[in-house]
Parts: sequence; C-alpha cells; structure tokens
Amino acid sequence: MTDALPIRVRADACPGALQTHAAADGALARVRVPGGVLTHAQLRVLAAAARDLGDGALELTSRGNVQLRGLRAGSEPELGARLSEAGLLPSATHETARNLLASVLSGRAGGLLDVRPWVPAFDAGLCADPRLADLPGRFLAAFDDGRGDVAGLRADVGLLALDTRTVALLLAGADTGLRTGPDGAVALALAATRSFLDVRAQQGGTAWRVAELVEGPDRIATRLGGDRSPAVDVPAAPGTGPVGRVVQDDGRTALVAVVPLGRLTAAQAEVLAGTATGEVQLTPWRSVVLPDLPGAGAAPELTAAGLVLDPGSPWARVTACAGRPGCAKSLADVRADVTAAVAAGTLPAGGGRQHWVGCARRCGRPQGDVVDVVATGNGYRVG
Ligand code: SF4
Repeated sequence: MTDALPIRVRADACPGALQTHAAADGALARVRVPGGVLTHAQLRVLAAAARDLGDGALELTSRGNVQLRGLRAGSEPELGARLSEAGLLPSATHETARNLLASVLSGRAGGLLDVRPWVPAFDAGLCADPRLADLPGRFLAAFDDGRGDVAGLRADVGLLALDTRTVALLLAGADTGLRTGPDGAVALALAATRSFLDVRAQQGGTAWRVAELVEGPDRIATRLGGDRSPAVDVPAAPGTGPVGRVVQDDGRTALVAVVPLGRLTAAQAEVLAGTATGEVQLTPWRSVVLPDLPGAGAAPELTAAGLVLDPGSPWARVTACAGRPGCAKSLADVRADVTAAVAAGTLPAGGGRQHWVGCARRCGRPQGDVVDVVATGNGYRVG
C-alpha cells in the first residue's frame, strides 16, 4: 500500500496572495477565502484589484478561493496592502494554509446545524498557532452541516454534523468514529490539524495531504484519543450545487448565481456587491450566493450581467481549466472553445457534467462523476 503513496521531494509551492505563481499570462495570486465568505466591501476590493492590477477578472476556485491573473510585474506589494486593509490577509505567515470550505447556505436553508460560527473560529485558531504556518497550501478543511455538500470533497480534516448534538471527525474524507458536540467541533478540527503535522514529522516526510501519510487517518485519530463510534458512510459530493432562487428558512431569499467557467469579471463582481445585503458566499461549484435578500427582484440585473440563475443552463454543468493563454502547457484556448460549444449547443456527452482541459494534467477537475474533455492538439478527446 505504501508503494502507491506519492513521495514529495519538495515543499508544496501553492500560490498565495504574496507568494505568486509565474503563469504564462503574468503573475497569478490566490487569495484564500475561508468558508467562501466575503463581505460586499471585500468583493469590491477584489474587483478593483483585478481591474487595476490584473486582467480584469476574478477566478473562482473549487475551494471557494479567488485568483487574480495577469498581474502586472511588481504589483504584489500593492495587492498585499489592499488585501490586508480589507481584512483578506490576516496573517502573512499563514495565508496559504487558510483553505476551508463550509456548507453553502448553512444556517439559512437546510442543514442540521449552523456551521457559520465555526469558520472564523477555526481560521483564528489556525492563524494564532505559529506551527500551523507549516501546513501545505494543499491542505483542506471542510465543515458540513449535515446536508452532505462538502463532506464528500475529501478534505484532509472534516466535520460532519450527524444530528443537532453530534459531530463526526472526518480525515481524508472518511469517518474516524471520533465524535464531539457542536461546541467542541472547532477544537477537535484544530487538534486533528496539528496531529497531521506531528504524524508527518514522525514519518520524516513532506506529505501535502493526510491521504499521503502512511495510515494517516488512523494514526492521527489514535493520537487524538477518545472512544470511537462505528464509522458512518460519508455522503458523496454532489455534482453541482443549488442554482437560482432559494427560499431561506426565515422566508427571505438567497440567489445563487453560477459564474460561467468561474471567471467573474470586475463588472460582474461589482453588480453582485451592489446587490448583496451584507455578505456573499463563494461555493465549490464556482457560483456565488447572495443571501438574506427581501426577494428575487435583483435576478434580472444579475442575468443581464451574464450570471446564470437557470439550473437547466449548460453553464451549471461545465467547468474548464485555465488553458491558453494563461497556461503554457495548454494545447488549446479551452475557455473560448467551451464558450463556442455552449453557444452552438454542441457540448459533447449530451451536455452532461463535463470538465474541459488543455492537457492531460486535468487541473481543477471536480470530484465525482464528470466527463473529461481533453485537448489533443488536434481537437478534443471525450471521456
Ligand atoms: S490541465 Fe494542463 S493546460 Fe489546463 S491548466 Fe492544467 S497544466 Fe495547464
């Protein structure tokens, strides 16, 4: 079994907001957004940064984070200053470690618990521990309120509400059998995160994920101690999230807008920020939730801006990697080709859930049942 584990000979070099990646179209910065939650003011700051310093758009990632591409040379200090001032960079040392997904619409519609308070609590605990700055940029936490939308995304450390009083600890996407109550959930997730580093150090490696450790979940759970319940099955990750109008438990409205190919222009971001009543939530499905609205009156404005509120739209089922010109490895301008196929109604696989990529690395491939559409240099291979 250990033969199959990847051997990491270098520390992970995931891009951050300060530690940018040199892409073919300029520097790329990744801004961590724990829980995908932004205030409308923060969304405006990101939109302005994309317009002033980057290529004019924000890329939404499958971890609810935001990327700025095509940054002009030397603009990193200004970007860092803008993000810090907006509260988007609370720790220069921990910035790439703050990868955290949370159930979409938690506390507003559905779910067994409200996991929203866990997000800032976990983030604050993570940033307050100097040792956790060593977490790899690929390390992921996911807090699921019982609806089963993020528990199946194979996060390194996960919390899954089983009922209103019981929370399961997941490691590498599987239930450990360890249980806690809602009040102890964040502390348990932080303890598991620290134990990942302990076990990794014991094994003398530079593993990026819990699944890369030898018997990682079991060794971490053993270090944590405590009784274990029979493990439950973790719900599989859904292919897509909610789209369009959702009536909240309090009678207000949430609008969930899909961003085609996850590329949110500065103008679209400003429309969203102008519509939001307080905060917005970025989802793993590259959509944006505008919660707590009095009704769906803003829907036409969002649609006019090119955002998608129709669950039947092909844009709700199609994702793509950066492709050309952003990635030097790409064999095609993937996004232009997808856009043409959507416009012409010629998506392959019957228009089903599909991920288009410019080479066999298949970056950004969503979890679950997805048809791959891979550029070959002479068209695309499907499947
Ligand atoms: S899948 Fe290939 S072409 Fe697409 S971003 Fe990754 S490396 Fe680049």
